[in-house]
Amino acid sequence: MTRPKGSVKSGQVQVRAREVLVVGGGFGGVRAVKEMAKEPHLHITLIDRNNHHLFQPLLYQVATAGLSPGEIAVPIRTIFSRYSAVQILMMNVDRVNLAEQKIILSGGKEYHYDYLLLACGAESNYFGHPEWEPLAPSLKSIRDALDIRRRILSAYEQAESSASEEEKRFQLSFVVVGGGPTGVELAGAISEIANTTLRSDFRNIFPESTMINLLEAGPRVLSSFASELSARARDDLAQMKVNVHENCRVLSIQSGVVKTTSGEFRAANIFWTAGVKPSALAASLGVPLDRQGRVIVKEDLSLPQHPNVFVIGDMAHAEPPGGGEALPGVAAVAMQQGSYVGSLIRREIHGQATSGQWTGQATSGKATGQANLRLPFTYLDKGTMATIGRKRAVVQMGPHQRFRFTGFLAWLLWLFVHVAYLIGFRNKIIVLFEWMWSYLTFSKGARLIVGHQPLDHQIMDHQVVDHQHQRPKSKSKSEPGTDGGSF
Ligand SMILES: Cc1cc2nc3c(=O)[nH]c(=O)nc-3n(C[C@H](O)[C@H](O)[C@H](O)COP(=O)(O)OP(=O)(O)OC[C@H]3O[C@@H](n4cnc5c(N)ncnc54)[C@H](O)[C@@H]3O)c2cc1C
Repeated sequence: MTRPKGSVKSGQVQVRAREVLVVGGGFGGVRAVKEMAKEPHLHITLIDRNNHHLFQPLLYQVATAGLSPGEIAVPIRTIFSRYSAVQILMMNVDRVNLAEQKIILSGGKEYHYDYLLLACGAESNYFGHPEWEPLAPSLKSIRDALDIRRRILSAYEQAESSASEEEKRFQLSFVVVGGGPTGVELAGAISEIANTTLRSDFRNIFPESTMINLLEAGPRVLSSFASELSARARDDLAQMKVNVHENCRVLSIQSGVVKTTSGEFRAANIFWTAGVKPSALAASLGVPLDRQGRVIVKEDLSLPQHPNVFVIGDMAHAEPPGGGEALPGVAAVAMQQGSYVGSLIRREIHGQATSGQWTGQATSGKATGQANLRLPFTYLDKGTMATIGRKRAVVQMGPHQRFRFTGFLAWLLWLFVHVAYLIGFRNKIIVLFEWMWSYLTFSKGARLIVGHQPLDHQIMDHQVVDHQHQRPKSKSKSEPGTDGGSF
């Protein structure tokens, strides 16, 4: 490490500060570092390939012009600017050498660790079809969200200037693959754009004629929720003019066409929210993985044979104490695991520092004193929620998720929780203001198209020249719009 290493005086014992490397500044990594940041016996290095911590649950709002990127992301340096023991590196970690206790960055540089925490999250999963990715972009990063925003807004611009009714229908057709929370939220938000935000802004098209198809391979949308909440979400979506297709598995995606077990969908705009797989770093460890590629961790979230290496969040397959289904890949799990590991390392180091016991090996299993006791990680499930649109959401919470809410109350709960968990007071205030403004005015403030027009090739592919087309003289509610894309 280039940063000077010091020793810390603890009582009568001179103790070398321990090197803790945390890879990933997402929900899990940030929580862990916060937990350890004030421990004087630690040098903490947080490495992330991006310079920002991203609040992924609100990415769809950036993708649908409701919020701007800076409102859901915050520089990692800013989060830890007051903690002098925390070093931030913007680097990509390429692999880990467990035997030699070091990580290797993409440029080949190596860093030694006493403790290592891997919290690298997940990436989009196209289930062996990487060729679908450019045709059906997914939503995992700010770049993805801005790309989707550009595609959505560009589609209306392309339709407005199109001379052909068929081309207009094609441009105003959306397919969202995946009926989990992200797919439902994205489809609902596109519907709001079409039916409220853009309603009066165009002269040659009827934005409310937008066709939105939401495809879910399983038997119901929001399958991680109680079935009554799935049914409610489906009804809400139907009222918002989103066509929900369950038991509808994608067979292939070509430019502007999705072939499924339920038929073919033509759409200029195809978005993929159908699955994630753990960060590629998981496979590089050479340790047992589950079927999804997640690292199987012990009850204390450490690797078997490597008690000083922890894996948490979306990258980890962690079972509840005593066994059972692996914990879900959600922010709450990652945050609680981050707090757990951070506090575990802090307590172990603090105990060793004050008793002068450091042996170079993290202790595991048998307790050698209160500081070294490793209780298993236990997840406290506070509830699950998803929003469908304005005044529409589903929430389940409480013991055994027994308390269930829908509609306006659920939506208020969703708003409150998401603002509360956003990092940064400024972001909380701005997002709250944006949502209040949007609620009162039905507008969306971030409707900027930036960058190139990725839809050009689709227009070329599907261009239909219609010389008979007449521009509508005026638009009124009684005029029929286009009836949407083909099925
Ligand atoms: C669109 C979307 C919506 C979601 N909505 C919800 C929701 O409503 N509620 C909910 O609970 N969960 C939601 N989730 C899931 C939730 O965001 C994840 O479960 C959570 O982010 C996992 O936290 P993590 O710390 O494991 O990883 P992340 O928060 O993903 O952080 C991983 C970090 O590691 C960094 N990284 C990855 N690989 C490397 C590398 N090789 N080198 C350096 N850095 C690396 C990344 O840049 C990133 O900053 C959503 C996810 C998405 C994508």
